[in-house]
Amino acid sequence: MTRALILGGTSDAGQLAAEIARAGIDAVYSYGGRTRAPADQPLPTRIGGFGGVSGLADYIRCETITHVIDATHPFAAEMSRNAVAACAETGTPLIALERAPWAKAPGDNWIEVMDVNAAAAALPESPAKVFLAIGRQHIAPFAAKPQHAYTLRFVDPPEASLPFAADVIVSRGPFTLQSELETMCARGIAWVVARNSGGEGAHAKIDAARTLGLPVIMISRPQLPQRKRVESVAEVMQWLGHRTCLGA
Ligand code: NAP
Repeated sequence: MTRALILGGTSDAGQLAAEIARAGIDAVYSYGGRTRAPADQPLPTRIGGFGGVSGLADYIRCETITHVIDATHPFAAEMSRNAVAACAETGTPLIALERAPWAKAPGDNWIEVMDVNAAAAALPESPAKVFLAIGRQHIAPFAAKPQHAYTLRFVDPPEASLPFAADVIVSRGPFTLQSELETMCARGIAWVVARNSGGEGAHAKIDAARTLGLPVIMISRPQLPQRKRVESVAEVMQWLGHRTCLGA
């Protein structure tokens, strides 16, 4: 009997949960607990960390999980590494549902860097208006360049004080080219810092930067251990042994 665990927190995971529920497959959807009001899912849901590799391995055993689908964000590297290790420990099949990274298009002016520290280092020394579109847990390295005027955008209002003064936008999106152009123009943004998340939802800021001729410091995805990886819900359904009418 199949019993799947979806490591979620992304729109792709939500689409997968909907398809799994439609197919009548027994499954649990897991949220990390970072967002205050996570979207409802059509599956039984649990929230919060498992307690590292051993906690996840225990969960897999206790809940008789037969398949794990890592549909976390491409930058949720700790969870993804833990999933590889816990699945190896328990002998549980694992698949990652992960959208392709964005590729540079003509007109893009990207400075590609390995991580958030390198992104902060890549900013100029002279004061500039910078849009940091990277999530609140990653902003600390930018405190080293306090000469810049930062605009931050979060899903929830920040609970703790920020490591530097900033103009904070609280919004869940969706963002369009038009709304991103308005955000950037209204604040006179000269630099954009983004992570290469992939997908369509977050791409509007990259389109806006291209339209405005702005440089983008693009943070590459973290390196992860070898694992089976697909880009579509249909491929996951196939892996679970179910046919679907979704295009792969
Ligand atoms: P992370 O750094 O890779 O994970 C840190 C710890 O949080 C993990 O070791 C695990 O705790 C717990 N965790 C993360 N995802 C979990 C999940 N789906 N279910 C149960 N526990 C989870 O992850 P993160 O970057 O903080 O992301 C947290 C969540 O937000 C993920 O679900 C991710 O898909 C979602 N998200 C992240 C981003 C992003 O930019 N990183 C963007 C959009 C959505 P234990 O070790 O205790 O098990």
